[in-house]
Amino acid sequence: MQKRIVSKRNVSEIEKIICNQCGEEIPMISGRPAAGVCSIRQVWGYGSDKDGEVHEIDLCEKCYDEWTAGFAVRVFDL
Ligand SMILES: [Zn+2]
Repeated sequence: MQKRIVSKRNVSEIEKIICNQCGEEIPMISGRPAAGVCSIRQVWGYGSDKDGEVHEIDLCEKCYDEWTAGFAVRVFDL
């Protein structure tokens, strides 16, 4: 989950990122995550039971590794 603020220059900036799985805050330094984070934005479309819904997920690297370790197909090339 990303919490945004509007800066003095009227620009939307990420204030903080919270891992949706464990609830830990991923620190921000100069507007960038200070640690690994996986951000997913899914717009569900026609044919889905969630048609029209927008889901946003942020995971810290530890939770990402635990989640993807259960996948049947590897998520990266060696
Ligand atoms: Zn986490």
